[in-house]
Amino acid sequence: MHLKGVSPPTMTSTNTGQTRPALIVHGGAWQIPEEMHPDSIRGCRVSARIGWDILKTGGSALDAVEAAVRNLEDDPTFDAGRGSVLNAAGEVELDAIIMDGKTLNLGAVIAVKHVSNPITLARLVMTESDHNILVSEGAEAFALNHDISLCPNWDLIVERERERWRSKDADEDSSADLFPQHPGGTVGAVALDAEGHLATATSTGGTFNKHPGRVGDSPLVGSGAYADDRAGAVSATGEGEALMKVVISKLVCDSLKQMTAQEAAETAIALLSERTGGQGGLIALDNNGDVGIAHCTPYLAYAYVTSDGEISADIEV
Ligand code: ASP
Repeated sequence: MHLKGVSPPTMTSTNTGQTRPALIVHGGAWQIPEEMHPDSIRGCRVSARIGWDILKTGGSALDAVEAAVRNLEDDPTFDAGRGSVLNAAGEVELDAIIMDGKTLNLGAVIAVKHVSNPITLARLVMTESDHNILVSEGAEAFALNHDISLCPNWDLIVERERERWRSKDADEDSSADLFPQHPGGTVGAVALDAEGHLATATSTGGTFNKHPGRVGDSPLVGSGAYADDRAGAVSATGEGEALMKVVISKLVCDSLKQMTAQEAAETAIALLSERTGGQGGLIALDNNGDVGIAHCTPYLAYAYVTSDGEISADIEV
């Protein structure tokens, strides 16, 4: 296993007694081709800026993660919202989750095909329904009832992905590899606001050529995301079939009682690799705003806000 991690600066409390806000976003992992690195880094940087502008003016962690992920969903570079990979039927099928660390409330949507910002629909499921998760047509009917208009599936498809899908049978690599080269990946954000509340959001088009109806880790609570004010907030990416076996986001949150955010991130990725042989990456914040970023995939695109308010964005190799 090739474990990779970065060690961003520690965020501390301000001397006003308020928590210093913190934010990390990711733009997925795996084989991001080198020519697409600038777009992935730029997309993460812009989203971190959008989330940070909310946090630094006293906005909530939930608002920050939703806005950051919406921007990544709108950016066709990434495998979320418009620009997502296609399933075996040649359609985009989207999953998303959002979770509030203050209340442990969560909302998720699975296999929606006509919603351009599934993260906003997930938040409405959290706040406006008695349920945690809605799937496919039921989620889309709920969207219509809450003034979210539906779009044709082809609105979510970009030429790059249509071409890749058309050539899949000719390309032995893409059918053999669950994660062939892809310009971007699943997206996510974790935030801590000035009130000391944490939130997380994850959104994805899933894996290329997936069976229609396939569900990965991303919309599953504890796997693709978890947030608890008593511990931390996590968003994961990578091979969903493996990540869900170790319930990776909850695993990181539980470990934060014994170790730093960076140690917890690295320990969880090591366990993922040892126990499943799968590949993944994650971003984590603890409830002090300390950052953890680790992956065993070839790359992880991310951006975080440093303690002096600057945005640091990179593709970690
Ligand atoms: N985890 C996502 C899934 O399995 C894919 C990814 O993160 O790239 O659906």
